[in-house]
Amino acid sequence: MAELEGLEFGKSDFVLLDEVTMDQFMENLKLRFQKGRIYTYIGEVVVSMNPYRQMDIFGKETIEAYRGRELYENPPHLYAVSDAAYKAMKRRAKDTCIVISGESGAGKTEASKYIMQYIAAITNPGQRVEVESVKNVLLKSNCVLEAFGNAKTNRNDNSSRFGKYMDINFNFNGDPTGGHINNYLLEKSRVVHQQQGERNFHSFYQLLRGGSEEMLQSLHLQGDPALYVFTREGAGAATSYNDRSNHKAVMSALDVIGFSNQEITSIYQILASILLLGNVQFEVDGESVQVVEDGVVNQIAELTATDPDCVVKSLLYRTVATGGGEVIEKGHTEQDACFGREAFAKALYERLFGWIVSRINSVIEVKNYNPVLHGKNTVIGVLDIYGFEIFDNNSFEQFCINYCNEKLQQLFIELILQQEQSEYQREGITWQHIDYFNNQIIVDLVEQPHKGIISILDEACLTVGKVTDTVCLESMNTKLAQHPHYTSRKLSPTDKTMDFQKHFRIRHYAGDVTYSVEGFLDKNKDLLFQDFKRLMYNSANPVLKEMWPDGQLGITEVTKRPLTAASLFKNSIVALVDKLACKEPYYVRCIKPNEVKSPVLFDDARCQHQVAYLGLLENVMVRRAGFAYRQLYSRFLQRYKMTCEYTWPNHLMASDRDAVEAIIRQHGFQDDVAFGHTKLFVRTPRSLFTLEQERAAL
Ligand code: ATP
Ligand code: MG
Repeated sequence: MAELEGLEFGKSDFVLLDEVTMDQFMENLKLRFQKGRIYTYIGEVVVSMNPYRQMDIFGKETIEAYRGRELYENPPHLYAVSDAAYKAMKRRAKDTCIVISGESGAGKTEASKYIMQYIAAITNPGQRVEVESVKNVLLKSNCVLEAFGNAKTNRNDNSSRFGKYMDINFNFNGDPTGGHINNYLLEKSRVVHQQQGERNFHSFYQLLRGGSEEMLQSLHLQGDPALYVFTREGAGAATSYNDRSNHKAVMSALDVIGFSNQEITSIYQILASILLLGNVQFEVDGESVQVVEDGVVNQIAELTATDPDCVVKSLLYRTVATGGGEVIEKGHTEQDACFGREAFAKALYERLFGWIVSRINSVIEVKNYNPVLHGKNTVIGVLDIYGFEIFDNNSFEQFCINYCNEKLQQLFIELILQQEQSEYQREGITWQHIDYFNNQIIVDLVEQPHKGIISILDEACLTVGKVTDTVCLESMNTKLAQHPHYTSRKLSPTDKTMDFQKHFRIRHYAGDVTYSVEGFLDKNKDLLFQDFKRLMYNSANPVLKEMWPDGQLGITEVTKRPLTAASLFKNSIVALVDKLACKEPYYVRCIKPNEVKSPVLFDDARCQHQVAYLGLLENVMVRRAGFAYRQLYSRFLQRYKMTCEYTWPNHLMASDRDAVEAIIRQHGFQDDVAFGHTKLFVRTPRSLFTLEQERAAL
């Protein structure tokens, strides 16, 4: 409600628009962006524009202004929803979650950091040491996870290449007692290859550019990213990210979190091994394949505390079980050797990342919590996960990410509807159902057992013999021919934007995406030869060994039907959705104003596209279809009692509800409101506007 801001800043809640049209929505969004008002509500949902500049709306003073206040008492802000989520958790012992969505570069990660800072600032007034330490670890973990999980992309200099869900646990006082981080699908293909203008994960450049001479020497590295195949492509990429100072920050954060010296050394030894692995070259020598230079392999062996001969062997051979149960060693072709080496580098990084997350979790997990003694342990979850992606070339990663967004969009629809409905029910109010586009049909297209795309992919991966990506595409074309959200060149032969052998297209809720099946099967199989796993499990470094427990299995014990990457991802997202669904949700919908990181440019077409696919207009409609506003009688009375002779300065009625009724009747708004058990519901914003104006005029 435009209370503390003048109307020259536009409407601070989209439900206050005169008419809910795209034009009006966009006009308001643009006006507010131009006036430096980056946050706008849709009821309790915050629409956030990336300002691409430092704003002085964060920090101690602002935090104090929002602390303990209701949403409508201050201009829209992330702090206000954070407070709402916190209050619901503390006062009503509700588990809550804040779901942040939006495309790459829209400001999700920055938003999640402000939310965490807010929560850290308003809790633990008594400065209890153990609580401060939990908060500190939670805040410091961002720095570490960003170093290892973020990278410069063409869209964002600090793009999160993994999904993150963080639970913060609270005791009955409302102070943080611990937390837990779940990470989702790290884009590990980036370790071995980056697109033009992009970089590998920050951690590599931080080490090379920020590591001391002594440290680099002990890791057999030289401080120039151009010298390593895996960092060469991105070595010259311009970035606003300072590798050197961030290296220092990460080292200190690792220390504060509680990583031991041995653990920190191991982390950097693994990073160095990956860089060196990238520089291993193979040559064909007669019938067999050889490593060109033994020196690099020896360094890798030293850094991973393994035997150099074993390293060479796992790079050049794989152990296979024959049909007769015999175990033999089979030499790689040069192509297999390259494939194996890259798979190994990617897996080393992925396991390192997973291990860092679990190590942080072990520090912040809630210990010795006794619900009988301490009361209910409540949770606020914060989700910062990759947004919908449409690139020029969309591969398996985009397929997974976009599926995840379908699931989250569904949850958004369900929860927003459900929330409205249950509030009306609770308050004894009848309401009119509104129809949505239900994207369940697209979710099914991807995940349905036997019929969905993931099932078809999995089936192709498990089929013995050479099934190519193209064969798999044909199978999808046959099985999904009738699906309204699936198409391909074969199914629409006149569409020249697709290739018969390569492409399929999904009509996502957020737009059409054409995927290239090239590499789908390999990425889904995610094959890593058991020899590498065994090599790592046999490392004399206990930290490394801990990351590879499956290396103890012999080749005949390895399951022949491991879960594929897509199925694992699906399971993790289903679990995530279950986790979110049982919490009271708060939403932050982030919008990227332009493609060029400009603080002044509002790209109308790009913004409108985001508004459309985030379903923001529908959100406003639902919010207005019922009642745009609801307020506790006591609060309403407090705010508007001066506009009615029967309630000013005090009322003599039996209840606040009666007093509110008097105000409503005096203004003739009876038809525009409904009286709930504890709250007044106002259908159109007009009535509130009138009251606001009267109040202001007094
Ligand atoms: P991705 O999906 O790629 O991880 P993201 O949505 O997490 O993207 P951020 O990394 O949060 O995007 O934001 C991108 C950049 O935009 C930031 O590095 C920062 O420069 C700028 N930015 C975002 N939010 C703000 C803000 N509130 N104030 C100032 N700058 C911001
Ligand atoms: Mg991010």
